[in-house]
Amino acid sequence: MTVRLFRCDECGHRMRLGRNYCGRCFAAKPVAQRPAMMSLFAIVVAALAALAVVRFV
Ligand SMILES: [Zn+2]
Repeated sequence: MTVRLFRCDECGHRMRLGRNYCGRCFAAKPVAQRPAMMSLFAIVVAALAALAVVRFV
């Protein structure tokens, strides 16, 4: 499955989520759209969910 959430600021190409740069013009993506930030975000969400579960037990 290919996830294409973001458009390139330079050329409008729909970029793959797992890349650090545009697949057409190779412009670098904003830091917030990079895979590392996505996984970091997922970890934070998972940690908050785990905290919420611990609180209500
Ligand atoms: Zn581009």
